[in-house]
Amino acid sequence: MQRNILLNPGPATTTDTVKMAQVVPDICPRERAFASMMKGMREDLVRIVHGDPDTYTSVLFCGSGTINIDICLNSLLPEGKKVLVVNNGAYSTRAAEICGYYGLPFIDLKFPVDALPDLDRIEQTFMKNPDIALVHTTHNETGTGILNPIREIGALAHRYGAVFTVDTTSTYAMRPIDIARDNIDFCMASAQKGLMAMTGLSFIIGNRALIERSADYPKRSYYCNLYLQYHFFETTGEMHFTPPVQTIYAARQALDEYFAEGEEAKWQRHLSVFEAIHAGLERLGFQDMIRRELQAGLVVCVKYPDDVNWDFEKVHDYCYARGFTIYPGKVSSQDTFRLCALGAITAKDIGDFFIVLEEALREYGIQIPVCYR
Ligand SMILES: *Cc1c(COP(=O)(O)O)cnc(C)c1O
Repeated sequence: MQRNILLNPGPATTTDTVKMAQVVPDICPRERAFASMMKGMREDLVRIVHGDPDTYTSVLFCGSGTINIDICLNSLLPEGKKVLVVNNGAYSTRAAEICGYYGLPFIDLKFPVDALPDLDRIEQTFMKNPDIALVHTTHNETGTGILNPIREIGALAHRYGAVFTVDTTSTYAMRPIDIARDNIDFCMASAQKGLMAMTGLSFIIGNRALIERSADYPKRSYYCNLYLQYHFFETTGEMHFTPPVQTIYAARQALDEYFAEGEEAKWQRHLSVFEAIHAGLERLGFQDMIRRELQAGLVVCVKYPDDVNWDFEKVHDYCYARGFTIYPGKVSSQDTFRLCALGAITAKDIGDFFIVLEEALREYGIQIPVCYR
């Protein structure tokens, strides 16, 4: 199989063994064998964030990662209470939009996209709004690659009696997370990012007692309700509606490969890819947008050079034709593109990529080192 190096922020490059794990004999997902595979998977997803299995559980859903944000926000807010979104990027903005679509009372507490949220302002917001019952933020804002101080935000949320949900889609199974020590009540991811599996399966990992407490919260969605899906799993072992069968077989294989590689070794591999990305960018003179010490170690957000010949589409197409995928930015104030350290790739792949990127710059007459005004 042709091996493509995906430097976009997910779906990630996968191993051939994960791709091939999808090819299985046909099976009805209501069979006991399938339910028992999902049971093991739910336990392993909790293990990845070091959750005590008596306190934490995980719930699977069929959908891309955004479904998790939707489900957490619409399912975990009691009647008459308010959501606080700590927002310094595109993914927390998405959470605020979801609150808007459901008509939930919410505060969109905005911070600059290239800085950490200010904990004092968050605390003042709690003091002024005793009805905040749910706080949501993003761990690694994938648009910029900034790492948010979730442990500190979670401590504040808990001090003021709120549940803390964190979008860990672009850190889970890469940057180590300890759900209890990091003060997380619910975190989430989809199979195609840190797990390096296929698209279509997402999961929420969180506090079982809080899910059970949400049983009588307002039901705002039929398909996307956390308690209903949890309850169905607990009583039948099955997903409420048809699961993405083959995708789940691939995720099972990816979990086995995750534990075989090991949490720390995998994180060090991602970090070595990240360092190689920085080294290559520096050599060609590219500047990144976020201060290096604020970056999560997984996404590099690169400023477009000020060169009349720079054309992202052309550079993308040149690299794509040679097996490397680069990705546009997601910041409105500045033109950027992104290079990410997700997936089954190594620092050597990044070395190969920069040879191709440099060829592309020469091909289109873009000055090297690239220039900024
Ligand atoms: C990828 C990602 C998502 C999910 O996006 P989808 O397009 O629904 O897959 C959510 N949050 C973060 C932080 C992400 O990186």
